[in-house]
Amino acid sequence: MNDCFYCENGEKLRSLMIEICELPYSKVYLNRDQKHRGRCIVAFKDHKTEYFQLTPEENAGYFADVAKVAKAVYTLYHPDKINYATYGDGVPHVHVHVVPKYRDGLNWNEPFDDKLPKKLLSDEEYAQMVADLRAQLNA
Ligand SMILES: [Zn+2]
Repeated sequence: MNDCFYCENGEKLRSLMIEICELPYSKVYLNRDQKHRGRCIVAFKDHKTEYFQLTPEENAGYFADVAKVAKAVYTLYHPDKINYATYGDGVPHVHVHVVPKYRDGLNWNEPFDDKLPKKLLSDEEYAQMVADLRAQLNA
């Protein structure tokens, strides 16, 4: 249908993120690059590219999902602030990056920077984070 890797749900997506669970209006992923510990992505369940294409009910439900994920991240990893980022120039499918920020940590007081080197974890570390987040999200 298009070249959207969220809809394609294939190797490209799996190279960047790991599925945690589905929520009523979204799919939740753990970002493989964990230089901001706990970073997740919440993608809308259908291929829409702008918030104004969602019904008011979908918008409310989707942002309730985003808030639920942020609370899970906050509970598990205790960031000082969570940043919420929507870009989508290259991949326009509605999604929010949930990016925990830590005082005295990387990019505090500035936008997070994906051009910095990635911090990848072991399969065991990813599995533990996914299990912890899944438990928090009751999925
Ligand atoms: Zn899509």
